[in-house]
Amino acid sequence: MKFVDAHIHLSDPEYSSILDKVIEDAEKSNVVALVSNSMDLKTSKRSLQLAKKYPGFVFAAVGIHPWSIQRLNENELEMTIEFIRNLEEESRRYVVAIGEIGLDSTYTMKEEMQRFQRQVFREMLCLAENSSLPVIIHSRGAASEIAEILSSYNLKKVLFHWFSTPRELLPKLIERGYYITEGPPVLYSRRIRENVKIAPIENLLTETDGPVRFWGPFKGKVTTPAFIPIVVEEIAKLKGMKPAEAAMQIYKNFLNFFDVELV
Ligand SMILES: [Zn+2]
Repeated sequence: MKFVDAHIHLSDPEYSSILDKVIEDAEKSNVVALVSNSMDLKTSKRSLQLAKKYPGFVFAAVGIHPWSIQRLNENELEMTIEFIRNLEEESRRYVVAIGEIGLDSTYTMKEEMQRFQRQVFREMLCLAENSSLPVIIHSRGAASEIAEILSSYNLKKVLFHWFSTPRELLPKLIERGYYITEGPPVLYSRRIRENVKIAPIENLLTETDGPVRFWGPFKGKVTTPAFIPIVVEEIAKLKGMKPAEAAMQIYKNFLNFFDVELV
């Protein structure tokens, strides 16, 4: 069986001292591809560096996360846009998506900050549109507004990561051909389990969102892509499929969504 982690923050400083071990564990668990998501300019550069270090195994998603807004100034925003826009042909091969981008209504109550979040999100969507790259969306507390915003862009592929609520929105997202990623909470969150049941397996991808920590059987453990086989096993159970069948379909979804060839 081959597994994929479509959303991890390998560029997070928490992983820097244990990176080789994390990669080794992933390989041992038959995880064959990871998408290193970014938070800002620094981690975008780091994700690209990692994709070059592990070609055909680690891929980069570059962009500005809605949580980065508070410490972001116009200058860094400009520099990040320039960095992504001017990626050289050689670097472009390693960048498979714009992410992690989006809105988070729970992160800041300040209206001015929320406006800035929206401005940055739109800038990121323009970049995705112009570069024909897929987008990886963070949508906590804002999925409906995001769905509305997305309808005015011509985007190649859209993935809602850790999609949680509102559940009524899910069929609409699926209808538009969007994907969702789910991870370890599939073992203990009723909401996530329901979402996995509703979404067709063709629209599902797996993730860890590491280094975020989890509950249930993962409590107290450092999050690594080695969690993915357990996640797929649970997805298979919920879908009434054999684990190998579910793993194969999710692997195909990965190739289709990110348009990549694996080594
Ligand atoms: Zn994330």
